[in-house]
Amino acid sequence: MTYTLPELTFDYSALEPNISARIMELHHSKHHAAYVAGANAALEAMAQARETNNFANLPKLEKDLAFNLGGHVNHSIFWKNLSPESSMPEGDLQAAIAEYFGSFDAFQAHFTAAAMTIQGSGWAYLAWDVIGNRMIIGQLYDQQGNLAMGTMPLLMLDMWEHAFYLDYVNVKADYVKAFWNIVNWPDVAARFASVKVNSRSLLLG
Ligand code: MN
Repeated sequence: MTYTLPELTFDYSALEPNISARIMELHHSKHHAAYVAGANAALEAMAQARETNNFANLPKLEKDLAFNLGGHVNHSIFWKNLSPESSMPEGDLQAAIAEYFGSFDAFQAHFTAAAMTIQGSGWAYLAWDVIGNRMIIGQLYDQQGNLAMGTMPLLMLDMWEHAFYLDYVNVKADYVKAFWNIVNWPDVAARFASVKVNSRSLLLG
């Protein structure tokens, strides 16, 4: 199998009371696992299509791969973006947030609004835009829509109902508020440091 479900670096209960163990267990062992299985199945079906030279089902398979691989990537990042240890952005990350968004408060308000106003299922994200050489905040629709190639994720927030409904029912604002308590800023900083150095040459040569 090409894709495998990553282990979490903390217990399912570690993010309580911000996210319950029950949500974490279902989210990781059922939802994330389903995206992993779906992405592997799509690759397998594409291999079959090449072997039989029958590409009649290809548009569906390409959508399945984008959706499920998107789900696998997004959740893999999301788990690392979360931590039981509370922290705040420091150093280069703190400076970059101030540079591109005006202040941390303005960044947080923008990101929160992005999360709160997604129409349907999706994600809010902070990313490094490789072409513009800057941070951007975006709304990812479903697992894969509404973003440009070369947009490198730094911080992602799952706004699918499966991510919060058991704990917060329809009160999304309280879920987003809780998210800010458990952001793993050292992880975001490490992604930022790496992507800033490496991604532009990967994309542009
Ligand atoms: Mn999810």
